[in-house]
Amino acid sequence: MSAPGRSDCIFCKIIRREAPASIVREDDATLAFMDIRPMVPGHVLVIPKAHCVLLEELPAGGAGLLLEAAREVSAALRKSGLPCEATSLYVANGREAGQEVPHLHIHVLPRSRNDGFGLRPPPGYGATPGRADLESTAARIRERLGPSRAG
Ligand code: 5GP
Ligand code: ZN
Repeated sequence: MSAPGRSDCIFCKIIRREAPASIVREDDATLAFMDIRPMVPGHVLVIPKAHCVLLEELPAGGAGLLLEAAREVSAALRKSGLPCEATSLYVANGREAGQEVPHLHIHVLPRSRNDGFGLRPPPGYGATPGRADLESTAARIRERLGPSRAG
């Protein structure tokens, strides 16, 4: 039987222990390890063991397992003694969103007051669209979710 995962994927290699990593948490479905180029000390990546690139490629229920692992890592960071007054969770979900490693991962980042992190919105941010605009956008998304999720 061939090894699971993608032979050319660095994170699949870490899962198979063919590449080194400092692992902090593992269960049947997920693995969490230190980012090799941390933005701050304690920067952890949480990944599904089954290779996929995008969040939407996870099987139904898979996102819950991944977020649960991130929740536990976040709790551990707060207790770790590292500077961590809060955490940010971040997913670059696709290349155009800045995803560099094409194996889905949640960044779990320890945060502190005035640490300089920020999300930079595009030019024009700050306007409040009219309700009709918000409703028509919501309708487009609702249509793709199907009637059972319409709220
Ligand atoms: P992205 O830009 O795809 O959201 O983030 C990819 C992250 O993976 C980066 O923060 C980068 O430092 C990290 N990374 C890339 N290659 C490796 C590796 O071989 N091992 C580990 N532990 N992290 C990696
Ligand atoms: Zn992979």
